[in-house]
Amino acid sequence: MIAQVVVDVQSSWLDTLFDYIVPDGLDVKVGVRVAVPFGNRRVVGFVLGISDTSSCPVEKLKCIDKVIDSQPILSEKMIRLCFFMKKTFYLRLIDVISLILPTFIRSGEVREKSINMVRLNVDTLPDLARAKKQMEIMQYLMEVGEAKSSDISSKFSASALKALIDKGYVTPFQKNEYRQPKIDFNVDKKNIVLNAEQQKAVDAITHSRYQTFLLFGVTGSGKTEVYISAIKDVISKGKTAIMLVPEISLTPQMSARFRNAFGDTVAILHSMLSRGERYDEWNRLKNGEARIAIGARSAIFAPLDNLGLIVIDEEHDSSYFSESNPRFHTHEVARYLAFLHDCPVILGSATPSVASSYAVKTGEYRQIKLNSRFNSQNLPKVQIVDMLSEIRMGNTGIFSSKFLDEMRSCIDSGKQAMVFINRRGFSSFVMCKKCGFVPKCEDCDVSLVYHKEDGMLKCHYCSRRYKSLTTCPKCGSPSIRFGAVGTERVVEELKSRFHVPIFRLDNDTTTSKDAYVKILEQFNHTSPSILVGTQMIAKGHDFADVTFVGIVDADVSLHFSDYRAIERTFQLITQVSGRAGRSDSEGSVVLQTYYPKHFAYRCATNYDYDSFLKRELSLRSMTHFPPFVEIIRVLITSEADDKAQASTQAILQDIKKLANTYSSDFVYLAGMKCPKKRLMGHYRYQIMIRINEKNKDVIIPRIYEICDKNKDNKVSVFVELDPQNLS
Ligand code: ADP
Ligand code: ZN
Ligand code: ZN
Repeated sequence: MIAQVVVDVQSSWLDTLFDYIVPDGLDVKVGVRVAVPFGNRRVVGFVLGISDTSSCPVEKLKCIDKVIDSQPILSEKMIRLCFFMKKTFYLRLIDVISLILPTFIRSGEVREKSINMVRLNVDTLPDLARAKKQMEIMQYLMEVGEAKSSDISSKFSASALKALIDKGYVTPFQKNEYRQPKIDFNVDKKNIVLNAEQQKAVDAITHSRYQTFLLFGVTGSGKTEVYISAIKDVISKGKTAIMLVPEISLTPQMSARFRNAFGDTVAILHSMLSRGERYDEWNRLKNGEARIAIGARSAIFAPLDNLGLIVIDEEHDSSYFSESNPRFHTHEVARYLAFLHDCPVILGSATPSVASSYAVKTGEYRQIKLNSRFNSQNLPKVQIVDMLSEIRMGNTGIFSSKFLDEMRSCIDSGKQAMVFINRRGFSSFVMCKKCGFVPKCEDCDVSLVYHKEDGMLKCHYCSRRYKSLTTCPKCGSPSIRFGAVGTERVVEELKSRFHVPIFRLDNDTTTSKDAYVKILEQFNHTSPSILVGTQMIAKGHDFADVTFVGIVDADVSLHFSDYRAIERTFQLITQVSGRAGRSDSEGSVVLQTYYPKHFAYRCATNYDYDSFLKRELSLRSMTHFPPFVEIIRVLITSEADDKAQASTQAILQDIKKLANTYSSDFVYLAGMKCPKKRLMGHYRYQIMIRINEKNKDVIIPRIYEICDKNKDNKVSVFVELDPQNLS
């Protein structure tokens, strides 16, 4: 018998299945790990197939040394997924396997946590009247059956317990204990009776086989209740479900709602968990104790058989694109898995991505709409403030008078406010007023961000820190101008005006594992109060007392060098606004901008998704952008500028030849410096390519070939399909 094996050798660029002989007596199944000789080493491999013959001469084949798993660690469907991802995203099999099986599983470093327990070893209690403590312990164990040794020792007495064990009346034993993620957040259990719209959505989903649904419902329309209800149905049919949320919106609230609804049937997977917790949650899914996986992107690889439903909440979120290697798009993975299991996928959003809405138009997805907020509460009223006219009226501060008035009335009525500014730190840069000098990072081509709290200038790309300036290092002038405002500055200015607790939520305040939960929890319990934050506050939170949302500088994302800039801005504004007025009192939103007439704002403030979509689609079709074409970026980086340039030229020449052959497929081709010319000491160049769909399955592999050919150990070349970040 011959086994086809992928070897776990990360450094090699080999992506081949190697044939190994299965010696008699070894029980090798598809999906198990094996130890095999490879070169002069012995490595771990994954058996992806078994056959009777090999195309290699048998005398050249080596034998499998050892079988590591008695049961397959990769299911047959997972193996099919590996081949799908290899083909779709041009990944190596071993990289796909490393996504599917987390390091802590593959390495075997993390183990079950076992605890010392005791139980009674007799049916009737012996009379130990003189040893009162020992009697008490036995009576207690009689009642409870078994207990942790440590509990008995602290409740009664350690020496009495030892005496009982020595006499043989009590037996010690070990038990595995799951490290279950704690959720320090309470949400009330509500009695949910779905309204007609919601019920219709659930029915459509639960009666469906393989199909992608776009669940389009305004914030607060009860999408989450629809997910929960559909998952309940799936569980009652003995199946399993995956629920994905963007990393930053895996709020304690969301987890708590799922724990309320499903108890221990839910396993929670996210990066903030300890390795032990993740290991245990993974195993609970693998062995069937948990049947619902909830987590960020990588939870799509949860080890579940018999899937009945996959939900991708906030489907428009960019975190569903994995941007570092191995790069993949979660929607595609989810849809393939659903196809394998013949079950539906729900993509849910209040602001669906243009790509998904386009897929509804072409008939690929089916749309379900939830039109009203569950409690029929109006969506908050959004007022746009033109910051230029504020300046003309003599207000050069960061808040307009409208902003301050609305904030005042919110605070005075004892309610809560959220203030959104998509920039952390105090100011985006500092500049000498006299000579114009702007300090930049020595390793990156970006200006340094001033963090007043720790008196530092920080590079937001490589995290390098520099001492803050009091005088200009060029001309010695002491007058320094601050750039665009960030969260720190907003908090400082609010503090001088409003004497209520102010919380800040951004990357700097949430470095520790619990900080994020703590800040949200405190905010939840404090009225009146203000929460200032970056896009971390935009998603998923459901705070009943928030009646005012202020957007300090809405234009931040409008200027991104990405064709999705307008889409992102529209989504962000809608999401942030949706935080206001979620329960009884009506909400209000103030949006500050220098482009008050921009159609993204006009549509967002009127909750007019359809007009936004229509405009955006016609713009993209005219200018040849996705979803009408494919974008491919080749990113070339090197510590040596001339080497990077030379490779860029060489690759560009080869791609030009390709473009001549397929001239009707290429709509754009150009090489240039990246917007961020240098990051972490690496010079950066890019080749931007746009092709239409027709021959992409021929063209893209050729681009990969060209890039592989021009790689060397001084120059890195990355091919990025549909890149999300064009910095
Ligand atoms: P979305 O996910 O669309 O933003 P949610 O599911 O969070 O909306 O619903 C908003 C609020 O309304 C939540 O507090 C939710 O529990 C409540 N809600 C939604 N539908 C119902 C229902 N049918 N009965 C009771 N409460 C509901
Ligand atoms: Zn100067
Ligand atoms: Zn840097």
